[in-house]
Amino acid sequence: MAIANKIAGYISRSSWIRKMFEEGERLRQEFGAEHVYDFTLGNPDVEPPEAFHAALKQLADNPLPGMHRYMNNAGYPETRAAVAAKLATDSGLAVTAEHVIMTCGAGGALNVVLKTILNPGEEVIILAPYFVEYKFYIDNHGGVPVEVWTNRDTFRLDLAAIEAAITTKTRAIIVNSPNNPTGVIYTAEELAALGALVKNAQSRTGHQVYVISDEPYARLSYDGVKVPNIFPLIESSVMVTSHSKDLALPGERIGYLAVNPRMATALQFMEGAVFCNRTLGFVNAPALMQRLVAGLQDASVDSGAYQAKRDLFYTSLTGLGFSMVKPDGAFYLFPKSPLADDVEFVKLAQKHHILLVPGSGFGAPGYFRIAYCVDAGMIERSLPAWERLAAEVGL
Ligand code: PLP
Repeated sequence: MAIANKIAGYISRSSWIRKMFEEGERLRQEFGAEHVYDFTLGNPDVEPPEAFHAALKQLADNPLPGMHRYMNNAGYPETRAAVAAKLATDSGLAVTAEHVIMTCGAGGALNVVLKTILNPGEEVIILAPYFVEYKFYIDNHGGVPVEVWTNRDTFRLDLAAIEAAITTKTRAIIVNSPNNPTGVIYTAEELAALGALVKNAQSRTGHQVYVISDEPYARLSYDGVKVPNIFPLIESSVMVTSHSKDLALPGERIGYLAVNPRMATALQFMEGAVFCNRTLGFVNAPALMQRLVAGLQDASVDSGAYQAKRDLFYTSLTGLGFSMVKPDGAFYLFPKSPLADDVEFVKLAQKHHILLVPGSGFGAPGYFRIAYCVDAGMIERSLPAWERLAAEVGL
């Protein structure tokens, strides 16, 4: 075997993703892209804000000496300070540049945090339905994922289940809000209760349990719902995020991690994380992007456009009899599968040229995910197909 057995196993277990992708391609070739409704990818369809292009042009026209050189592994001091200033305003706490490391996206930040904190065999609690890469990231650093369900009807935190899952081996809990795939935003009360629970667990087990708050969708919330800042609510928290969604820059790999300044061990954590950012081979986050996002900490794509798509989809599909939680943020819907087998349902949807991801891909069989970060026209065009699909499954 030319590759590691473990990796070959991961690939073969996820071969259905490739099959789905191939089937989508086949449908597009046979019927034309206009007649295939692809809701599988969380790849923003919008362009970055105008201010991003203006800053890019300004820098291209006035290059700075040394702007493409290596730098401190944590990133440019001025970018870290700009991020810290935004976080200090949001949290009301004394966040400074020394609490921030610029990273290669939230994915890079998650790997840096896990590498920094995990001893072999330590457990990381992930909350189903979850972003599928968490399991691979945890495995990358010798950890063991422990799945705990959120409430199956509301997708809100099940604090009793989390408490029951904490053992002497628990090192971290990953929370993701606004959530991929459910769109749920946890309230300040829920997060404070989680913080209290973790504090108790720390006294009980005698070691630190981190809450890793993965929040790349934090600036995409609807109906005025505010995403609470994690730092005042959970003392042992580390935030990981990126500008993949809020500035629509997923291909540029720019994000950051920030440690709670209230954490007694914050500076020791940061020393470890800077080292891991280097030795994981990231070295530092992309230099050009660091310069550009420094001035864009208050900018965001228009979340109103996503909200309009959510409303169109939610109203249309609930009208057809599909059952789902109305998302408060991000750009996903996670309805119940009308067939007990979500993979069968997704296959049936393909026959109607609708491409979806089964809930099983998020550790949540019995549901399916719709990514609505697509052209509104495609949602409109897909509605008759949804109607036929609903009729076929007897809704
Ligand atoms: N976390 C969640 C919940 C995501 O949905 C994604 C990407 O879709 C990521 C992390 C990784 O994002 P990034 O592009 O910042 O690495």
